[in-house]
Amino acid sequence: MKKQKNIALVAHDNRKKHLVEWVQYNWQTLLKHSMVCTGTTGKLVEETIQAKMQETGIKSEFSITKLKSGPLGGDQQLGALIAEGKIDLIIFFWDPMSPHPHDVDVKALLRIAVLYNVPIACNRSTADFLISSPLLNEPYEPILTDYSEYLNRNV
Ligand code: PGA
Repeated sequence: MKKQKNIALVAHDNRKKHLVEWVQYNWQTLLKHSMVCTGTTGKLVEETIQAKMQETGIKSEFSITKLKSGPLGGDQQLGALIAEGKIDLIIFFWDPMSPHPHDVDVKALLRIAVLYNVPIACNRSTADFLISSPLLNEPYEPILTDYSEYLNRNV
């Protein structure tokens, strides 16, 4: 993991307002990294950063990759990026109070993030801790569990 991180941002509809507030607060830190978002979240994050730039007069290039919308496969696309080692950190404001059509995808995303030992913030205070970690600006190699026994099993 390099000094510049690839940060994934995802928010369920009931949590989007909270993610926008969080991005309004942390946008300058986010600008130093690249971002990957599910579709609708990505649009909101982009608009929020652009509005902040206009408000402050600060101009900077920034990179947001927008995947498909979560229920249309975006969570699974993100899961695939995690399995390929392309995501360094995840901010995932999921809604614990509503059922979703893509609940199984949400579960899969949480599972794959844990499997690959990718830091994942599922609420705002954890997101605050992650974004203010000194490790954000340092190279960092997550330790992966050794699955060689599993891979070499007799089947
Ligand atoms: P969205 O997807 O950013 O396209 O709304 C988020 C999700 O529900 O996983």
